[in-house]
Amino acid sequence: MSVTDIEWAAIKNNDKTYDGIFWYAVKSTKIFCRPSCPSKMPNRHNITVYYDKNEPGQRGYRQCKRCQPLGEPVDNEEWIKTINNILETKYAQKLSLEDLGHLAHGSPSYLRHVYKNFTGITPQQRLIELRLQAAKKELLQSNLAIKVIAGKVGIENVSYFIKKFREKYGESPLHYRKSHAKKSDS
Ligand SMILES: [Zn+2]
Repeated sequence: MSVTDIEWAAIKNNDKTYDGIFWYAVKSTKIFCRPSCPSKMPNRHNITVYYDKNEPGQRGYRQCKRCQPLGEPVDNEEWIKTINNILETKYAQKLSLEDLGHLAHGSPSYLRHVYKNFTGITPQQRLIELRLQAAKKELLQSNLAIKVIAGKVGIENVSYFIKKFREKYGESPLHYRKSHAKKSDS
């Protein structure tokens, strides 16, 4: 199932002669592309190659917005799903708008524009939501320090984390942990 050297060379060189012959899918982002796609190179071990153009879709991969692997425009709804999938699986990592653009195969500013138009919030706002939700869970399920939890969900700056948590849930992370622990004791 691994990528052959010929396939890998075609992908690396954005070789148009292989367009329509095979398609490559990237496991970590669930996107599939033509060999000629100009997007940033994925890791070789994350790639699966398909010679049937319908197969990647059947296996849950979504079309790359940029190279339009099936020769038809990719609608925004599908692209938003791709972006959300990336946010949901990678929120704990450092993820700038540029990183997201690379991963979702689109320019950062266009991505932000489309995402905001479609969902009403920016990708960064969605990212914070996901991180705070994960932190909330972690606060109740572990005894880890606030700083450690913040880092674990992808927020380096602990005072920023506490500020955002309070904004969203109306109390500090520590208070949230205490009040919930009390409730479960009684
Ligand atoms: Zn592509």
